[in-house]
Amino acid sequence: SGEKFDYDLVIIGCGVGGHGAALHAVECGLKVAVIEGHDVGGTCVNRGCVPSKALLAASGRVREMRDKAHLAAMGVQVGAVDFDRQGIANHARDLASTIQGNLRRSLEALGVDILVGAAKLAGNQRVRYGLPGRVDVGGEVSARDIIIATGSVPFVPPGIPIDGKTVFTSDHALKLEWLPSWLAIIGSGYIGLEFSDVYTALGTEVTFIEAVDNLMPGFDREIARLAQRLLIQGRPIDYHTGVIASKVTPGVPGVKPVVIELTDFKTKQLVDTLEVDAVLVATGRAPYTNGLNLAALGAATDRRGFVPVNDKMQVLDTKGAVVPHVYCIGDANGKYMLAHAASAQGISAVENICGRPHVLNHLSVPAACFTHPEVSFVGVTQEKAEEMAREQGFKLGISKTSFKGNSKALAEKEGDGMAKLLYRKDSGEILGVHIIGLHAADLIHEASNAIATGQRLQDIKFNVHAHPTLSEVLDELFKGAHVDAPAAS
Ligand code: FAD
Repeated sequence: SGEKFDYDLVIIGCGVGGHGAALHAVECGLKVAVIEGHDVGGTCVNRGCVPSKALLAASGRVREMRDKAHLAAMGVQVGAVDFDRQGIANHARDLASTIQGNLRRSLEALGVDILVGAAKLAGNQRVRYGLPGRVDVGGEVSARDIIIATGSVPFVPPGIPIDGKTVFTSDHALKLEWLPSWLAIIGSGYIGLEFSDVYTALGTEVTFIEAVDNLMPGFDREIARLAQRLLIQGRPIDYHTGVIASKVTPGVPGVKPVVIELTDFKTKQLVDTLEVDAVLVATGRAPYTNGLNLAALGAATDRRGFVPVNDKMQVLDTKGAVVPHVYCIGDANGKYMLAHAASAQGISAVENICGRPHVLNHLSVPAACFTHPEVSFVGVTQEKAEEMAREQGFKLGISKTSFKGNSKALAEKEGDGMAKLLYRKDSGEILGVHIIGLHAADLIHEASNAIATGQRLQDIKFNVHAHPTLSEVLDELFKGAHVDAPAAS
C-alpha cells in the first residue's frame, strides 16, 4: 500500500516470548521494537524459571549433602552441612540479573529498540506507551504488525489476602526472606512442587492443600503416584486433597500463625482449620492483559482474561474473525503456559507475519518439573491416550522401563524412577512420553523431537545411544515398543 510505519514489528512485553519473537524477527530482516513496562526477561527470567532453578540447585546440594546414608553407600562421608539463606537468595537474584542483562544485550546488539513503558493498543497498527507521572518516557509508534506478549501474574483465589510476609505467592517465595518452620502450599502443580523441594531441603515442613482428589492434577496418574512416593514420602510433607483453602487470615512472622479454613471442594462444608507459619499460594497464573485496550481491535479477552487466538497466533475479535496484523503469544493467550512454549509461539507468529504459514504442534512441546528427581512429559497422559484409543478405534501400545536397569543411574545411586511411552500399535506414532527420574527434564527431548518431526517408532527403535548414559532409558522404551506397521525402509 506504500504506507510507512515506524517499525515492521512492535512487540508488547519483553519476557521470553517477546524476546524470542524479536530475535527471530531480526533474523527475518524486520525492523523491530519491544515495549517493556518492567524488566526485560519478564516472569521467566526475573520471577520464574530462572531464579527458581537457582534455588533448586542450591537447596538440592544441601539435601544431597545431608543425605548421609545415600552418600555413605558410595563410600563418601561428609561432616555437618550448613547453608546461608541469604547467600542462596543472592544466587537466585544474581542469576536473574545476569540473564536479564544477557537478554537486553542480545536485543541491543541486533538493533532492536527497547522502549520503556506500559503499552496499550491504539488500533491494529498503532501502540501507545508511557509511564505514569513521567513525561520523558512514552509516545506512540506505528507498526505493520504487532505481537502482544504481556505474560501473566500469580492467580490468587478469592478469600486469600496476600500480605507478602506470611501469605505470599511465588514472587515473594523466590526471595527466600525467611524460612518458616511450617509452610502450607496451596496447589500441587509444578510451581508448588518445586517450592516444596526447595523449602523442605532447607528444613521447612510442608503441607499441601489441593482442591482435586489427587496431588499433581494434569500429570499422568501413574507418574503422579510414583512422584508422590519419591517427592513426598520420606520428606517432612503431608497433604490434604479434595479441599480448598476457603479463608486465610495472615499472621505475623514468628509471632502469630496464619489461620487457614479448609472446606470440602465438593460439599463446601468446613472440614478443618490449620495454623501454620506461612502460606504459599501456588494456584496457577492469571493472564496480564487488562489495560491493553483490546476494544480498539473489536476484540476482548475471554472469561479468564486470556486473549483469544487461532492456531497461527492471530488475535480474534469478538465475532471470532481474525484481526489483521495483530498476534498474541505466550502466557497471555493461555494455550501452553511455559517459557519455551512462549518463545516457540513467538517464532511461529513471526513466520506467519513473514508470509510463511506456520502452526506450532503443541503436542510436541515438552513440560518439566525441576524437583529432585525431575518429572517431565510430552504429548498426552495414559488416561487421555486410552480415551483416544477407544474413540478412534486403535490399539494403544504402552512401553515402560525403570531407572533401576540403567547403569548410569545406578552408578549415581539414583535408581528411583520410571519412563513410559504411549503409542499407536497400528502406525507407530508416539502419543506421549512420561519420565520421572534423574535428569528427566533433559531426557524428554528425544521424544519431543520425534513427535515434532513425525518420526515413527519402527524408524527410530534401532537408533544407538551411548553407554552408559541416562539416554538409554529412552533406548529401552523405544525398543520395548511393538508396532504392527513395517519400518520405512
Ligand atoms: P512473561 O515472561 O510474563 O513476560 C511478559 C512481559 O510483558 C513482562 O515483562 C511484563 O512486564 C510485560 N508487560 C505486560 N504488560 C505490558 C504492557 N501493557 N506494556 C509493556 N509491557 C508489558 N516455565 C518454564 O518453561 N520452565 C520453568 O522452569 C518455569 N518455572 C517457573 C517458575 C515460577 C515460579 C513461575 C511463576 C513460572 C515458571 N515458568 C516456567 C513459567 C514461565 O515463567 C512463563 O510461562 C513465561 O514467563 C511466559 O512468558 P511470556 O513471554 O508469555 O510472559
